[in-house]
Amino acid sequence: MRLVGGPLAAWQQRNGEATIPHCIEQLDVSGVLDNFRRLLGESDAEFRGLVFADSDLYKVIEAVAWEIARTRTRAFDSWLDDVIALVARVQEPSGYVDTWIQGVAPEKKFAALEWTHEMYVAGHLIQAAVALVRAAGRTDLLDVARRLADLLVERFGPGGEDRICGHPEIETALVELYRLTGERTYLDLASRMIDLRGHGLLPAGSLGAHYFQDHRPVRESTAAVGHAVRQLYLNAGVTDVFVETGDDSLLRAMDAQWNSAHDRKMYLSGAFGSRHRDEAFGDDYELPSERAYAETCATVADLLWTWRMLLADGGAGTARYAETIEREVHNALAAAVDATGTRFFYANPLQQRRDHHSEENAPRERAPWYVCACCPPNIARTVAQLSAYVATVTDGALWLHQLADAEIDLPAELGTGTVRMVTGYPADGRVEIRVEGDVVPGAELSVRIPGWSPRSTLVGPDGPRECGGDGYARAPLEPGARYVLDLDLTPRLTTAHHRVDALRGAVAVERGPVVYCVEQADLDAPFDVDDLAVLPAPITVGERDTLVLRCRVINAADGLYGPDTATEFGDEHAVTAIPFSTWGNRAPGPMRVWLPRAPRGGLQ
Ligand SMILES: [Zn+2]
Repeated sequence: MRLVGGPLAAWQQRNGEATIPHCIEQLDVSGVLDNFRRLLGESDAEFRGLVFADSDLYKVIEAVAWEIARTRTRAFDSWLDDVIALVARVQEPSGYVDTWIQGVAPEKKFAALEWTHEMYVAGHLIQAAVALVRAAGRTDLLDVARRLADLLVERFGPGGEDRICGHPEIETALVELYRLTGERTYLDLASRMIDLRGHGLLPAGSLGAHYFQDHRPVRESTAAVGHAVRQLYLNAGVTDVFVETGDDSLLRAMDAQWNSAHDRKMYLSGAFGSRHRDEAFGDDYELPSERAYAETCATVADLLWTWRMLLADGGAGTARYAETIEREVHNALAAAVDATGTRFFYANPLQQRRDHHSEENAPRERAPWYVCACCPPNIARTVAQLSAYVATVTDGALWLHQLADAEIDLPAELGTGTVRMVTGYPADGRVEIRVEGDVVPGAELSVRIPGWSPRSTLVGPDGPRECGGDGYARAPLEPGARYVLDLDLTPRLTTAHHRVDALRGAVAVERGPVVYCVEQADLDAPFDVDDLAVLPAPITVGERDTLVLRCRVINAADGLYGPDTATEFGDEHAVTAIPFSTWGNRAPGPMRVWLPRAPRGGLQ
């Protein structure tokens, strides 16, 4: 699968040319590579970064691997040679490798797993190694990863110590290593990590057992709680283990969790985590815009999990998984990186006030790097493999989950041809699907019809096909055929569930899968974006993906509180809205996704 044109392909290009080289440079600047070199006597630097700083390197290696898969580039080969050799030289004969433990606190080796992140770091090393084999056929890092995984199996596998890591990640990594190698002990260890969780093995401390999902056994955990990234990484691993073992009790818990996270705790942008403290999910419907933590990594983690839920559904499941992925990619994930590909948000609030208070992980502007640098390399590795989310093949059908300008080479079970999607989506609602080459008789095409355009039909050689109950329209996949999908991209006003107090009486603007916002930089009149209310009037499409809303200015009240009297509305103005994904690319200033709804008259 290849993204050929349109915004996603352009983003991948920028990721390869700017984001990945920037991340590589930051590994030196931030001290991550020196943390390895100092153990070999090749650097005098002190250890720098957080205890899991090694994972920054492993995620960048994974990003490079997917970039090689995408472009066959050789530009990173010598860098890979160097850093893989560095990791291999630091690895102890036992297989252990973790520069913070080895260089700073050797007495803590496997002794304080609730916060040392040793298995989390190991998980990212394993994932990078698996990616390099799949993408480049390169096995040198795999040798390192297997030695480490074998050590974990020996020490914590069946019959070993009952221990788990404070930060999930090892689970999904071990399943991937099992898939690559066929070595069953890796899958068994992943299962064991999941079985052991929720039994109070981690000292809860002031954060509480919810923080690392150790409050309740996984099979009984039906609500997404605690540190959002940990919960969502764990769920990716749990779903992986279900896929490999068929243990339905895991899938039942994951179904309930998925509904908890997506029906009651997800921001409109596809972000998660409404609490800065503990980087945690909030309660159901607790979704404040300006205090949204909405960590970039939580969206990445949910992409990983939701994609696995789609696959667990047979790759042919309901469209809700694919539509969630689309929302996350086009909004929360896209907003996390700037137009140059070298500056990143860690927290992704849906509103910024004029006097926004910057915090370490929630700065006013995107930053080139962070002390806790989990997010930028996570963006890099995710964007490099965006094409993987486009389609699946199952039950004799090609399923197009994501609508994008892309090419898909058919696997042998469907034929020898190529299916090409030609589209300017999401700016343009027409998607043309062309089948080139041979197709086996009886093959089918299933195309997702987005929920916001339910009446759209897939028009092929034998006429229009309506959307089925699962959100996909089906037609025979025929050689030489051309199918057309015309989606309704009329801009729409969206409201939130009445229990979301922070959004009551407010509307957001969406067009297709794209969430919009109003940024102060687009207001040339002397009023504040926080004083605007949206009229229920038609929204027009402006230049370069902008929309033009009709708004009224709310006349300022006298005090913070007052009697329950009418709100006064002033003049009507045309106001430009931009895709949320593009905000913050000019001088920092106020922005908001949700605006109050205005009445048509002058007084309410
Ligand atoms: Zn992060």
